[in-house]
Amino acid sequence: MDLNKIMNDLGKKHPGEVEYHQAVREVLESIEEVVNENPQFETAGIIERIIEPDRILSFKVTWVDDKGKVNVNLGYRIQFNNAIGPYKGGLRFHPSVNLSILKFLGFEQIFKNSLTTLPMGGGKGGSDFNPKGKSDGEIMRFCQAFMMELWQLIGPETDVPAGDIGVGGKEIGYMYGMYKKLRRENTGILTGKGTNWGGSLVRPEATGFGAVYFAQEMLATKGTTFEGKNVAISGFGNVAWGAATKVTELGGRVVTISGPDGYIYDPNGISGDKIEYLLELRASNQDIVAPYAVEFPGATFNEGKRPWEVKVDVALPCATQNELNGEDAQKLIDNGCICVAEGANMPSTPEAMHLFLKNNILFGPAKAVNAGGVATSGLEMSQNAMKLAWPAEEVDAKLHQIMRNIHAACVKHGTKADGNVDYVKGANIAGFLKVANSMLDQGVL
Ligand code: NDP
Repeated sequence: MDLNKIMNDLGKKHPGEVEYHQAVREVLESIEEVVNENPQFETAGIIERIIEPDRILSFKVTWVDDKGKVNVNLGYRIQFNNAIGPYKGGLRFHPSVNLSILKFLGFEQIFKNSLTTLPMGGGKGGSDFNPKGKSDGEIMRFCQAFMMELWQLIGPETDVPAGDIGVGGKEIGYMYGMYKKLRRENTGILTGKGTNWGGSLVRPEATGFGAVYFAQEMLATKGTTFEGKNVAISGFGNVAWGAATKVTELGGRVVTISGPDGYIYDPNGISGDKIEYLLELRASNQDIVAPYAVEFPGATFNEGKRPWEVKVDVALPCATQNELNGEDAQKLIDNGCICVAEGANMPSTPEAMHLFLKNNILFGPAKAVNAGGVATSGLEMSQNAMKLAWPAEEVDAKLHQIMRNIHAACVKHGTKADGNVDYVKGANIAGFLKVANSMLDQGVL
């Protein structure tokens, strides 16, 4: 495989899309050996086909705000690869959304979904709409307008979107309502639905729970557990709160959370009532980080800084891409951190990732660590197809087993001669092989 040529060609076809190029390079670097050992992949052009989305759909979303003003946003759906099942991946509503970010997320999603062992292809979508500070009515009108365009592109056997940054249960509800009205049918078209109308129990906390289950497996390879460990978490959204809850349950102490404007350090631990307090603020669309320090004595708000400067045993970046750079990684390493598990998608820069790998830190890449979210979405699709609802314990047990299996796949494909596990390599190879072999089976498409 000529990696430089492939990357040059990608750069020409998709100029300036740095996040997309970064994600592709990371995967190709770690599967290079496997591709070279399997000439049938080269002959069938698997690499060139897998790095290019099947189709990129974009549309205008027009909606009216509370003042009666008409607003125009951009909407997208990227259907990346459906070799192993219908396109599946979240919708992100955030002002930073653009094609580069959605392509990187959609590309990662192919391998993540493959790792879950469930039949789901890769896709991603979203809009540059910013739900922050919007009223409920504005969010509803935007979601309805977004779905008026999206509904023709998706379907329970075609493409099943879910949530992501800026898209939680409320937004999924408004979009599902409009889909149902337009299509005149109740189907499992979105995941992350309310549990009263087809959503799976445990889906809201699944990504965070799954991330901690994965980290638990990594720690076990070194004969240790979360018990008594200090843990830094970034963000405080869907992923972070599930992770904080599970870490606490396993005896760890979460000492940080963050937002774009800074982080909270609470040496007494962020758990129980404190998590409830944060969730209430979040549900009412308010800033959460600064008020926390006022509410809980002993906690400090560190404006404009990131939590990676705090001395912790485990770090769980759960906010956004490229939020942990080389300098941050070095601080974590110098402070004795032994495990970094990516709850967010691509939160570590390439420099940070290489530092973790070089220093034999237990480093779990996003596509393995946060696969519990989409895995539970897959379980929601199964329940919808069967017209059944499984109890929480059953869903959680399946999620836990899936995370153990993903960890085992990483160990199988990523164990190095010295016995340490390169989880980046392991996850990329395991995820890639299943998709590549499926593409070979299905002919040139
Ligand atoms: P949310 O919107 O629920 O939460 C994101 C959190 O990160 C918010 O607390 C937000 O703060 C904070 N944040 C955003 N930007 C920054 C920044 N630059 N620095 C620090 N904090 C920041 O999103 P999710 O929890 O759903 O997603 C988080 C990450 O996890 C994303 O990378 C997503 O792709 C990934 N993911 C999510 C899954 C899911 O099931 N939801 C599944 C798999 C991956 P504020 O609200 O103040 O802006």
